[in-house]
Amino acid sequence: MLEQAGEIQPWLGASFVCGCGQEHTVPIRSVVIERGALAALPPYAAERGYSELLIVADRRTMEAAGEELLQRCKAASLQAQACVLAEDERGELAADERAIVQLMLHMTPGVQAIAAVGSGTIHDIVRFVAHRTGRVFLSVPTAPSVDGFASVGAPLIIGGFKQTIPASAPEAIFADLQLLARAPQAMIAAGFGDMLGKYTALADWQLGRELFGEPYCELAAEMTRQGLALCMDHAEEIAAGTELGVRKLMEGLTLSGISMLLVGHSRPASGGEHHLSHFWEMRFIQQRRRALLHGAKVGVAAVQMAALYEAAAGLTREAAAEAVAARLASGDAPSVERMRAQIEAGYGTIAQQVLAENGLGAAADSAPAASVPAASPQLPQRIAARWDAIREICRSVPSPQELADALRRAGGPAAAEELGIEPELLAESLRVAKYVRNRYTIMRLCEWL
Ligand SMILES: [Zn+2]
Ligand SMILES: [Zn+2]
Repeated sequence: MLEQAGEIQPWLGASFVCGCGQEHTVPIRSVVIERGALAALPPYAAERGYSELLIVADRRTMEAAGEELLQRCKAASLQAQACVLAEDERGELAADERAIVQLMLHMTPGVQAIAAVGSGTIHDIVRFVAHRTGRVFLSVPTAPSVDGFASVGAPLIIGGFKQTIPASAPEAIFADLQLLARAPQAMIAAGFGDMLGKYTALADWQLGRELFGEPYCELAAEMTRQGLALCMDHAEEIAAGTELGVRKLMEGLTLSGISMLLVGHSRPASGGEHHLSHFWEMRFIQQRRRALLHGAKVGVAAVQMAALYEAAAGLTREAAAEAVAARLASGDAPSVERMRAQIEAGYGTIAQQVLAENGLGAAADSAPAASVPAASPQLPQRIAARWDAIREICRSVPSPQELADALRRAGGPAAAEELGIEPELLAESLRVAKYVRNRYTIMRLCEWL
């Protein structure tokens, strides 16, 4: 199976028992990544018996592709309506309560399939509504900007807190290369940034396996790795925004999405770099600042995580054991009390949700350290004892300089200040963004070093 990890077609509609012991199912039936892919949607819908479609776009993507799709559906004698999601007063569209209600208002009983025409945000809104209303979800990406097209989780912002809600994967993806190559270079660079984040995401997953015996799937990891290799091997083409470049990027993003579908969570594709990115996003929402592209943030955050990995990789077994012992002796080490205090100080109005995410919710008021893995009393010895394996994981991550160079070549930002993230916010996020998800990452490991 591993030798086909870099291909998309063999996995579509597949259901099998994997070497990891889990049964994997890929609900996506069809992926079309080619010039003119838009034209393949109406015949697909007709063949599947979906005669009534709702096309969801924003103003820009309606113009770029929605209108054409609407006409093509009508020409194929399908009943198609459009729902153009309106931006908020700041000219932005977020996957939040407001957008979900807008889409719900356009749903009629006869709609069988909803086609998302746009980037990640529109996909997340549609995947959630399609899931909750039992409709088929079809994907038409208009920019190769995120790996979320193929995934199942909908990252939604509810009450200002970004959480990933289980929803639907698309049944089919129609990625038109002509359309993707016309996307702004900033969005193409963002897709590349989202892929570069896989280096640190994969290493974080391995830390979870090494230190906590977290379930790990070699196939899913290899699929992500192969998708990343496609992008690194075609970095120049991606930077130039050629059709070949956007094809390879879209294939990489799709493989990353499928790897998440295999295991049913985002571990193969999302680690500390995503937690940092989500933290910045939530803080920007609280401060009513203009949102940044997801992949642009992830790329910059991956450079930050790579720096932590580089520092950890520099420690010998003895140095790591000494560092852990010094932390224990001074009391400057992770504990339930410290987690609680840092979350309360760093998350303001959403602290309760973050405490709950970390197993420290109201019901677990007196949570013993043993039930919070990151504060487990056995952890320090385990880190010291398994340092050689941990160091190998740390060494698998490219240097921050290599990642920054690759991002810059693709035309994307590589440093926090290029995103408008102030040094204070960066420092604070490196302290508390690890709590965005209850997952072990290099940020949590570094608390011991
Ligand atoms: Zn991402
Ligand atoms: Zn598996």
